[in-house]
Amino acid sequence: MSDANIAREAELRRTFAIISHPDAGKTTITEKLLLFGNAIQLAGSVKSKRNDRHATSDWMKMEQERGISVTTSVMQFPYGGRIVNLLDTPGHEDFSEDTYRTLTAVDSALMVIDGAKGVEDRTIKLMEVCRLRTTPILTFINKMDRDIRDPIEVMDEVETVLNIQCAPMTWPIGMGRHFKGVYHLYNDVVHLYTQGQGSRIPDDKRIEGLDNPEVDAVLGEEQAEELRMEVELVRGASHEFDLEAYRRGELSPVYFGTAMGNFGVREMLDGFVEHAPAPQPRDTDTRQVTAHDERFTGFVFKIQANMDPNHRDRIAFLRVCSGKYEKNMKMRHVRIGKDVKIADALTFMASDRSQVEEAWPGDIIGLHNHGTIQIGDTFTVGEDMRFTGIPHFAPELFKRVRLKDPLKMKALQKGLQQLSEEGATQVFMPVDNNDLILGAVGTLQFDVVAHRLKEEYKVDCLYEGVNVQTARWVYCEDAKMLEEFKRKASTNLAIDGGGYLTYIAPTRVNLQMTQERWPDIRFQPTREH
Ligand code: GDP
Repeated sequence: MSDANIAREAELRRTFAIISHPDAGKTTITEKLLLFGNAIQLAGSVKSKRNDRHATSDWMKMEQERGISVTTSVMQFPYGGRIVNLLDTPGHEDFSEDTYRTLTAVDSALMVIDGAKGVEDRTIKLMEVCRLRTTPILTFINKMDRDIRDPIEVMDEVETVLNIQCAPMTWPIGMGRHFKGVYHLYNDVVHLYTQGQGSRIPDDKRIEGLDNPEVDAVLGEEQAEELRMEVELVRGASHEFDLEAYRRGELSPVYFGTAMGNFGVREMLDGFVEHAPAPQPRDTDTRQVTAHDERFTGFVFKIQANMDPNHRDRIAFLRVCSGKYEKNMKMRHVRIGKDVKIADALTFMASDRSQVEEAWPGDIIGLHNHGTIQIGDTFTVGEDMRFTGIPHFAPELFKRVRLKDPLKMKALQKGLQQLSEEGATQVFMPVDNNDLILGAVGTLQFDVVAHRLKEEYKVDCLYEGVNVQTARWVYCEDAKMLEEFKRKASTNLAIDGGGYLTYIAPTRVNLQMTQERWPDIRFQPTREH
């Protein structure tokens, strides 16, 4: 079944997230995107507004003191006849699990690279996550106003390190103090850079045609000739843009510019709304859901403490996959098998939170969660099915939890159970002893958990080191073999918060040796909710 309104609204949506290494310029470019979307009047206000809001929530003070943002907000703005949903991801590596899961709720990603630094660690990791769903990637090479590396070399690095083809869409004219603008390889337009327009929508000073004598007049004959030669070289030596290859995640269109100077961003954004995919089909355990389907469906990819101190509940972020959300509609919360009336879902127009009357495929709505909603939960209108592909990622850091007051064991277990359901941490219970081991992707997660255990569950706990380096979820179709493995490897086995069997390895070498010894057992680095 499909509905013309739903299909039309879905086709307008472009839902994406930015992936980058800290300091590459994600915050700066977000601000400029909002400026182009008329969502803010003056760039420079994104960070300060966020901080005001954090100040209202006490457990977030901790993060504020550390100067990082733990929140994933959702920003919606209109641009170029489309509705753009930008899912912000915490840049700090300590919250990468949130970042990873946010990437399951988008249809494409924008990769921002610092032109001077090239491909950095976090980008490599985030790219791996994008690969799980072959998410299309558009690239912005930032900081052209500085002396960066040779743009060809940076593109080469993206190709070899990230294993994706690059198709330059614009080409930079000079760099650093000599940065003059970009040439659009497909529109044959030279866009000229003017400094000092970073906090507003800059004028588009353009010259049509690379062979236009105006180019010589503005750049000088020498730089103009150099540009023409370079463009010829680049056209010959690089990949041509191919929409299908981009949509398959095999090729990335590349734009150059400076987020700070708000230049090159418009060309990138124009390219983004033109080429990025509309809401994509998604798999469930029973059928594939397409965005044009008129029955409402969605899944929760993130849960976040409410920023409003008057409401101590949490917000569950739900991605609408099909159909239409209407205020006061009844949805089925599939996991608990209940139909619930939703009267007060939130939307996130830039930095303003307001109530939604309706939402369409690709949109994100915020549901008030009083402890019943978990990450990965599916909502439908009466249909019993679940979205798949919203994974847990194997933690990289482990600590043993110790209670200050041993009588609080019940409260601790309850707290950890709930915090792990929410995705704040992962908990592992070894099969051979009574330890409680927490797993996280970043150290800050441990602090947040300790703080929340104290505030919300009145439990004081300490952390101790534990001899675990990595974890893998264990699967085996052969029940007999699995039993044998459980017996022989029990010292390294644990049950996680969701009841799944996990191998907790003291070293990577140990993991590797165990894998070699048990070739028919699967050791998975991710587990689905
Ligand atoms: P994030 O950590 O990725 O969000 O990075 P930010 O947007 O906070 O930027 C990190 C630093 O790089 C800040 O000091 C920015 O002012 C600076 N920056 C961002 N974009 C540019 C740019 O285009 N040129 C220059 N020179 N600096 C930039």
